[in-house]
Amino acid sequence: MKVLVASSEIVPFAKTGGLADVTGALSKALRRIGVEADCVLPLYRTVDRDRFSMTSAGPPLRVPLGNREEAGVIVETEAGDGVRAFLVRNERYFDREFLYGTKDGEYADNCERFTFFCRAVMEWLVRSGRRYDILHCNDWQTALLPAYARTLYSQEDAIRQAGTVFTIHNLGYQGLFPNYDLPLTGLGWELFTPKVLEFYGKLNLMKAGLVFADILSTVSPTYSREIQTPEYGHGLEGVLYERREDLYGIINGIDDDEWNPARDPLIAAPFSREDLSGKKACRADLLAEFGWTGPVEEPVMGMVGRLTAQKGLDLLSEIGEWLARQPVRVVILGFGERNYEEAISELGVKYPERISVRLAYDDRLAHKIEAGADIYLMPSRYEPCGLNQIYSLKYGTVPIVRRTGGLADTVVDADEDPQGGTGFTFQRYDAEELSAAVSRALAAWTDRPRWEGIVRRAMEKDYSWGPSARAYAALYEKALRKRGR
Ligand code: ADP
Repeated sequence: MKVLVASSEIVPFAKTGGLADVTGALSKALRRIGVEADCVLPLYRTVDRDRFSMTSAGPPLRVPLGNREEAGVIVETEAGDGVRAFLVRNERYFDREFLYGTKDGEYADNCERFTFFCRAVMEWLVRSGRRYDILHCNDWQTALLPAYARTLYSQEDAIRQAGTVFTIHNLGYQGLFPNYDLPLTGLGWELFTPKVLEFYGKLNLMKAGLVFADILSTVSPTYSREIQTPEYGHGLEGVLYERREDLYGIINGIDDDEWNPARDPLIAAPFSREDLSGKKACRADLLAEFGWTGPVEEPVMGMVGRLTAQKGLDLLSEIGEWLARQPVRVVILGFGERNYEEAISELGVKYPERISVRLAYDDRLAHKIEAGADIYLMPSRYEPCGLNQIYSLKYGTVPIVRRTGGLADTVVDADEDPQGGTGFTFQRYDAEELSAAVSRALAAWTDRPRWEGIVRRAMEKDYSWGPSARAYAALYEKALRKRGR
């Protein structure tokens, strides 16, 4: 089976969040189980051209866009483990400092940019003679692909028989644009209805994927159920409920090449479940990195991520003053929305001996936090899967999480299940529940044998990609059956 994984970001080429980790690792994991996966993404300025040598993957394309044409070129390179990566080049759209926008907002032409991307992929498939059995599309930036496959390109040999799978990585980002952007896509106004592309008067690109793909999936079983309800559906719960028979939840694996404490080059010393001694060196290194020297008895609590409402930052702000009085050191790495950056930095300035903040995107430091912290905090308002809590489990860093989405599927509360617990969880999105969970974790820390038991159980869990890749392969089979194959 040949699969083309399409995504707006893919490790090792471009990344702003978990989407890139997942699409990069999944492609490789599919190859390892015998599925011939390749991937396609835009050629951004930030892709490292010294590291990847690019060759042309076909003649230049003239890509229809509204009532004009835009030039595009597809180049290819090796992504590792046999995966070919195809990158869509167009300077006007992708030769920019960032992937989606600046701190002051999204690029104004994002609809045009990602419409171009999808249309270029379709044109390339048709003209290059490449055949894929499955187009696996991810999030709104690639959601037009399943729509094109069943409309403008439905008669093309390269496309007709291909099954489409659309995976939701985050329903909070839907690709909502003014209705006057519709003609750019080449799709007709007859599709601009609430059943298809319209969302309260706007064009919703995510819906193109939800309506037209043969099979839908999201990145954890709990999130696949949550998004059918108004609390988590972001207004699309009705569409998702209607398609519930075709909607699956597959938990993300993690890339063992990138995240493995036994051979992580970015951390101070390797360690494993059998020999935890290296974790001490990682802890000291982390404390020094954040400006603290000398012995520290209290646990170190880490947090890494985008500073957005999704990640529970208003809860963190609410408990900030209280947290600074607890026997704990807090290290936070993140960047994102200005108001959260300011609120979090203020805590650091006010309580420098307790809370230390780094506003940055820093992969090396993210690894050091996962390795060196004792506790990891993830109080998300919603969390489709979440990767950091899984990295934490693997690095023996006990997670405190809100019981939602993938967090609910990966962390077991150690008070509720003393034999099986791997972390601490709380249910309601509420500052008191969060501080109670933190208190329970701090109490457990003082009981060393118990704490070590939790750490070992966490590290025992298997979140390798194999089982998830096999679950995706099963979805591809279902999609093919829908195509009568
Ligand atoms: P999301 O995809 O919602 O951002 P995930 O937990 O699924 O959240 O994945 C986030 C990924 O991005 C992880 O690999 C995490 O380490 C990384 N990441 C997020 N923010 C930063 C940052 N400021 N510095 C380094 N890595 C980060």
